[in-house]
Amino acid sequence: MKTPVLIVGAGPVGLALAGDLGWRGIPCLLIEKTDGAVTQPKMDLVGVRTMEFCRRWGIVDWVENAGYNRDYPQDYAWLTALAGYELGREPFPAPREENPPEQSPQKRERCPQDFFDPVLARFARQFPHVALRYNVELIGFEEQPQGVTATVMDKLTGKRERIDAFYLVGCDGGASIVRAQLKIGMSGSPVLTHTTNVMFRCEGLEKLHDKVPGYRFLFVGPEGTWATLVAINGRDRWRFSLICDNTRRTFSENEICAAIVRASGRKFDFEILSILPWIRRQLVADRYGTKRVFITGDEHGHSGLGRPFLEARSLHSRMGRSEPARFVRTRTSPSGDP
Ligand SMILES: Cc1cc2nc3c(=O)[nH]c(=O)nc-3n(C[C@H](O)[C@H](O)[C@H](O)COP(=O)(O)OP(=O)(O)OC[C@H]3O[C@@H](n4cnc5c(N)ncnc54)[C@H](O)[C@@H]3O)c2cc1C
Repeated sequence: MKTPVLIVGAGPVGLALAGDLGWRGIPCLLIEKTDGAVTQPKMDLVGVRTMEFCRRWGIVDWVENAGYNRDYPQDYAWLTALAGYELGREPFPAPREENPPEQSPQKRERCPQDFFDPVLARFARQFPHVALRYNVELIGFEEQPQGVTATVMDKLTGKRERIDAFYLVGCDGGASIVRAQLKIGMSGSPVLTHTTNVMFRCEGLEKLHDKVPGYRFLFVGPEGTWATLVAINGRDRWRFSLICDNTRRTFSENEICAAIVRASGRKFDFEILSILPWIRRQLVADRYGTKRVFITGDEHGHSGLGRPFLEARSLHSRMGRSEPARFVRTRTSPSGDP
């Protein structure tokens, strides 16, 4: 199989790159090793710069209507517990009421990854020259002067296949095989904190306490800030983050439930949906690729979407002057923005 650009990883960065290339008329193939379901949304804030890209692509209303409760207050509050003392509060308007900053026509939006990835996939899929293949894993690649040959595996059948591309872009996250194969090192602090994220469901959590609702509650104990609670969809799903120091610890479900009850200040019914231990790092890749292979997104260490989305655009201009330009088709977006 041949494609001008092979993108590895259908997180927000890979999906945005596929959509942006499609919008520019450049055919590409995106492969993702999972089925695409997001059980632990990591990002939930789409920043101003990223929303400006969505505006250019004509998908702002898709983001706004993706599912977050846009009437939910976005305050930050510091507490001893939900049923305890409120130590401080920084008020923010609900997304629907927030105005754009004076520097931009666009404002930030709350849209967690399990809502945002499907929006980006829908955007990419509307271009007939963009293909998304899920359950397909990159196993390795060889770079030649004129292109890249990738070996991929269908995770459902175990079948291996070779794909020839002019360019390969690794958007395959922090534990990237693309970066590892290019032997690109990372500089900075490998561990700031170990954190355990817990997604849980609880209807009407606001009724369990007397505090004004907010987007993020930060729980302060004798040891300092030890946990946070985030309104992940502004309705019934919550993300509890248990913050530890720089030593790794694995928590049992009982310990996690006890920590959630400590943060609440009282017992209540909730359903744990998923648990994700993760490491907060401060690392940046020493190089961003070679002539034919690029890395971007979390893979090169820039957590957050704004900068990788910008890079997706600059990748296009680096590619656009060469081979994939031969494949360019007419842009189908109504926007005339370059
Ligand atoms: C708790 C938390 C909260 C955050 N909040 C925000 C926020 O509010 N706003 C924000 O902008 N950022 C936020 N971030 C950062 C943001 O989530 C990341 O920057 C973003 O997810 C990076 O996207 P990505 O596409 O580069 O990587 P990922 O989202 O990690 O996606 C990589 C994809 O590549 C796939 N993959 C990996 N290896 C292969 C392979 N060999 N073959 C095929 N596919 C492969 C993976 O399955 C995965 O789907 C947060 C991060 C965390 C941990």
